[in-house]
This record gives sequence, C-alpha cells and structure tokens, in this order.
Amino acid sequence: MSWPTGRRRPGARCPIRLGSLGSQRIPLLKLPTHVLSLSRLYWTAFLASNMWRQSRYPFLALPRIAADRDRAVRRMIAYAFRHVPYYRRTFLQLGLTPEDFRSGDDITKLPVIDAETIRHGPDQFLADNVDPRSGLVLKTSGSSGVSRAVHIDRAAIFRNAAQGERERSMIATAVGKRHGYREAVIVLDSGLDESSTPRVQRFMRRNAYFPKTVEVERMYIDAAEQPHAYLPRLNRFAPDIIQGYGSSFDHLIDHVTTTRAEFHRPRAAYFHSDAIATPTRAALQALGIPVFSTYEACEALKIGFECDAHQGYHVNIDTYPVRIVDRDGRDVPAGETGTVVVSNLSNRAMVLLNYDLGDRARWLPGPCPCGRTLPRLELVDPSALQSITLPSGRIVNPSQLYGLFLGEPGLHDHQIVHVSPDRFRLVLVVPDPAEREACGSRILKAFQGIVAEDATAEAVFVDRIPLSNGGKKRKYIPLSTA
Ligand SMILES: [Zn+2]
Repeated sequence: MSWPTGRRRPGARCPIRLGSLGSQRIPLLKLPTHVLSLSRLYWTAFLASNMWRQSRYPFLALPRIAADRDRAVRRMIAYAFRHVPYYRRTFLQLGLTPEDFRSGDDITKLPVIDAETIRHGPDQFLADNVDPRSGLVLKTSGSSGVSRAVHIDRAAIFRNAAQGERERSMIATAVGKRHGYREAVIVLDSGLDESSTPRVQRFMRRNAYFPKTVEVERMYIDAAEQPHAYLPRLNRFAPDIIQGYGSSFDHLIDHVTTTRAEFHRPRAAYFHSDAIATPTRAALQALGIPVFSTYEACEALKIGFECDAHQGYHVNIDTYPVRIVDRDGRDVPAGETGTVVVSNLSNRAMVLLNYDLGDRARWLPGPCPCGRTLPRLELVDPSALQSITLPSGRIVNPSQLYGLFLGEPGLHDHQIVHVSPDRFRLVLVVPDPAEREACGSRILKAFQGIVAEDATAEAVFVDRIPLSNGGKKRKYIPLSTA
C-alpha cells in the first residue's frame, strides 16, 4: 500500500511486449548500472500505470468487468495454444481451437487440472517463450500437501502488486496513511528464501524503484517463533499493521489474552493463507483493530479480498476467474458448497487454467453492502477434517472426530496425521505440562474407540501445530501426504 490509488487498465497488452523484453533480461545483469536502471524505471512505470484507479475497479458494473475477463480469456487461450505444450496438445486432442473460447464460461471446455497434474509434468505448463530466470519461482505445498513449484513472470508479479490496491486502499484508510508506515510480517522461515511474501517483496525491490518517501518499514517475524519470544520486539517496533497467517494471529491473541502481556495495538491486522479463529477475530475487533484478509495461492496470487463489510471474499474475476464445482466438475448454484477451481489470466510463465485448488467454498448470493460488484465467495472451514478411510474400508465421518477434542479446556490446538494405513498420530497442544498426560490419554482412548481394531494411535505434544510450507495450518494430514 505504498503506492497511489489506481486501476489496472483492463485490456492492457503489456505481457506480449514484456515477453520480448524478457529475452534481453538476463544479459542486463552484466550491463552497466545505467542500463539496468532503465529496466527498473520501466517496471516502476509499469507498476504505477497498472495501479491507476485500481481501488475503484471493484465498483464497476459487472457486465463491464465480465467483458474485461472475457477479453483476458481470449488472449490467454491464444497464448497458451501458441506457447504452452500442455494446452497445445490438449486443444488438438479435444479438437478445439482458440476460436472456441469467447468468454469465461468457455474455460469449462478444458479439463480440470490439479497439483498432481502439475507434479507429473510441470514443464508441460511452462511457456516456451519466457525465460524462467527472469521471473520468480514460488514453492508451496498448499492444502493438498503435494509440493510444487509455480513459475511466475515479472509482469504478472507487478500486475498482482498493482491489483493489491483493491484491498490496500481499505487498509490505508484504517491506518490513516499510505506511506511511511511500519509493518510487522509474520512469515515462515523469514530468513530463508522459501517464504513467498519476503521473496516477492525482494523481487520487486530488485526490479523497480521505491522512493524513500513511499517506502514501508518492515520487520519480519518467524511464524515458528513463540509470541512470548517475539512480543517485546514487536512492541518496540510499534507497527501500524501486522500481517500474518490466520493461525499466527490465533497464537498471538491467545497469548496476549491469557497472559495479559503488553501488546502494541496496530491500526490494522491483515491475514492470509489459513483461517483466523472466530474468537481471535472478535478479540481483535474488541481491541478496536480492523481485520482484513485476502484469499491467495501461488497458482493465482490474489484470488480475492475481504472488504470492510467482512462478508466473504470479493473475487478478482477479471484476472482470476473462479468456478465452484461438484465432484463431477459441474458448477454448483450459489449457496452450495463445492471445490474452488481457478484460472490465472495474468501469469504467462506457467499457464494454469481450470486449476483445482482443493479449497472448499460457496458463492454468497446477493449484492455486498459495500457496493462492490465483484462476486463473493466464502471459504468453508478451510482447515476442516475430512473423512478418514480405514484399512477395512470403513469410513470415519469428520463429525465423529470433532467430538474428540471438545470438552478439553487444557487443549489449545490439535492435528490428526494419518501416518500409515493403520497408524495415526494425534498432535496436541496442551500448554500446561501437568494436564498433558490425562488430556492425551482421554483423547487417545476416545480416538481408539472410533477406529477400534482398524488402527492404532499415538499422542505427541508440541508447542504449536507446524504449518505447511504454504503457511496453512491443517487439522488433518491425509495418508498420501503424511
Ligand atoms: Zn463488499
């Protein structure tokens, strides 16, 4: 939110030109500094122009936004047909040509792909005209648990940052200033190269100019660090905004409320990646701290954002059109729960259309009180337990498992790991050591009662549930990914 309000000009054809610029990019590193500066100037201007009126875009009439989306679909389809092996082959196999795709609805003509599809042939989705070294590779495990690398081209990263104005403009209002604020970022392995947030921010700094007057002062906190350890540092830094995973806020607010520790109140809290617990959101609001969030994935960087009405996520359908589908891949009506399938109309390094994110969601009917027209979805219990299939074929329903953890006041968090077909690990967070044994044996006994002779289980106590490397906290790690 360090840049002026603006809207990306829909239909801007920058990516084609950027593709040709890309062929010059690698040698640039060896050229004299003033040539490199030209490149950074270009990307600075690119960012600024894409920000133009971006914060007003979600209020435009829906047919206008749909027309932008359809134009972007046609461009991306033509590009994929020309440059991406998977789509070239699939089009031929299905007897399709780019002319068969006129609107967002036509994306359904393509097969649904997922993390497994990519894992078996990641190169098939890479465009043959983009130098992969010119962009960024983000690695994530996400909710499916399958590790994958997503290549993103430089223009897509800058366009995404510009589009962030849609939520940053609201956060800026809460903070009361657009630049020169302080932001604490809670992120996994902040000192390493693995986390997406600092990597994207470093990438942008390397490739564009951010004048000192619009710089954001940031401190990074490792999400694996305990709140009691980092809180003194956080208080000294006195951030205007705290950014983190939903579960990071759960840990922080749980610590602050139970120990009454001193806590510098930021002007806004911004979370992403995993869900925030309802009591955490209520506690932040009671402290007068407005809460914002975005729905993100490495495959589609900024799918949606929460507005100040706090009723679901407005989906950026002009860039990341979303479908919510049933088991057979058919779109479900508003209000019904299905799986989120997204298409990325911005990234030309690795083209992903009709991509099953594995998240569960439903469309919210009716207009949003905020006046934005972008449709809204609500994620459905993103860290929820799933049905567990035992070696005998017997299926344990999630509702049986929820009951295990109720009525245990000493239990702060839990995770079920399906280690092998007949073995489970119950990962428990019980802060008081004196309560662990009794609490653990009660839960184990109840769990054993459910799985009976089909499986055995062990209890393990940890200080906190480890996050997946996509920063998501999961209640259940299925057998295939444990
Ligand atoms: Zn809204």
